[in-house]
Amino acid sequence: MSLAKSEVVTIAGAGLAGAYLATLLAEAGVTVNLYESRPDMRQENVGGGRSINLAISRRGLEALAAVGLSQQVEALLIPMKGRQIHQESGGETFQTYGAQAGEGIYSVSRSGLNRLLLDRAEATGRVRFHFDSGVESVDLDQKMLRLNNGSQVPYQRLVGTDGSGSMVRKSLLEKTGRFQAEMLDYGYKELTVPPMQGNFALEPHALHIWPRHRFMLIALPNPDKTFTGTLFLPHTGNPGFSSLDTSDALQSFFEQNFADALPMIPELGQEFFSNPTGVLGTIRLDTWHWQDHLVLMGDAAHGIVPFYGQGMNCALESCRQFFENLKNHGFQWQNALPDFVQNRKPQADAIAQLALKNFWEMQDHVADEKFLLEKAVLNSLEGLIPGFRTEYSLVTFTEVPYDDALEQGQEQKTLVKQIVGNAQSLGEIDWQNAETLARNYLNQHQLRS
Ligand code: FAD
Repeated sequence: MSLAKSEVVTIAGAGLAGAYLATLLAEAGVTVNLYESRPDMRQENVGGGRSINLAISRRGLEALAAVGLSQQVEALLIPMKGRQIHQESGGETFQTYGAQAGEGIYSVSRSGLNRLLLDRAEATGRVRFHFDSGVESVDLDQKMLRLNNGSQVPYQRLVGTDGSGSMVRKSLLEKTGRFQAEMLDYGYKELTVPPMQGNFALEPHALHIWPRHRFMLIALPNPDKTFTGTLFLPHTGNPGFSSLDTSDALQSFFEQNFADALPMIPELGQEFFSNPTGVLGTIRLDTWHWQDHLVLMGDAAHGIVPFYGQGMNCALESCRQFFENLKNHGFQWQNALPDFVQNRKPQADAIAQLALKNFWEMQDHVADEKFLLEKAVLNSLEGLIPGFRTEYSLVTFTEVPYDDALEQGQEQKTLVKQIVGNAQSLGEIDWQNAETLARNYLNQHQLRS
């Protein structure tokens, strides 16, 4: 660890990944310079934020535990035990996440968590904060940051955690070239569901989904008894953000598609027309590092669409793995960086793929009978056979590498189709056969891994 003491690391972006990584490094004795384009959110309301709350699960919680934050974060969490599906007919169904004892996903406030991470970084005594200091560009040859206040700052090592619009990435790409930002033709809009008669307007311990095939509305609970609703909708076409251009069009769109939600969003028109429309995409790069002195982390390296609730979980896990890798290489960055990228990139690619798959699943298949039956069978097998975990559980409740979870999910899809056959309900499943097939699958998978 003594090697770390001579290190000075510069981090661009004091969001979730940046503040977390600063803590890991500082606890190991590294001096950290943390540059953030916005003011200190602990002193000022920085506003304009997106995704007011996030779903946090095992990978994120383990990362927080590694810096001693388990207890503090608990105060910010609201458990969500399953998906509450609001059908077009007005009916509702509840799909449990199939978690085992002690497992769950939680709604957490983005700003609450970010503040906690900034406080934790500050408590190390080795992090120097530079707020209101956005990075405009990086000179990779001179190892120099150019800030938006006109100053130039030299660095020894630089980590770009400046999010999906990363300026550090932009400078890296001038050297390395290939970049793919696969944008969805979908945007999102945040809407508030205020408390009703002093209480939550919806069941608080659930992630609410109104799946409507080509679009959907979701809502996650907040500690102040509000919900943050997010409408995902194509940018163009009808319905699309471009066609919802008058209060009347918006009102009738909601009356037609989200009749039960409409009375719960009293500021619909005001919020819809004044809140920004967020964009969604997947970021893929050939590499995340340059020589031995620059690396990207979090959304800057591997931004994904939000439909598996894993972007932040993945970002924190990446930071943790990066730090472990750095330690294992005795803080020799020239070996640690390529090793980290080589090991982590397949994981990021896998969760990117899973998140896109879940996009279609959430808005479309969650209302499909066959899909629901297959899901119920896999969940039942998880309860019946020790060691059998569904793809969702592997991603959400374990730290199994994402690419392994992806592969197991694909194999389970074949398995469940074989089990379900022409059955229409759980009662029609041949459970003896199902168990035998599932145990065989599990044995084969364990033999291969
Ligand atoms: P960010 O959180 O974006 O932080 C980047 C930081 O860098 C910010 O503080 C920013 O101000 C700063 N910055 C930007 N540019 C500069 C610059 N030039 N110089 C200096 N500083 C700069 N993930 C989940 O795990 N669960 C969820 O449920 C979930 N839901 C989501 C819902 C939506 C609608 C969206 C859009 C995302 C969601 N995510 C979710 C993903 C999650 O928000 C991101 O993966 C996570 O925020 C990544 O953290 P980060 O620190 O890499 O980037």
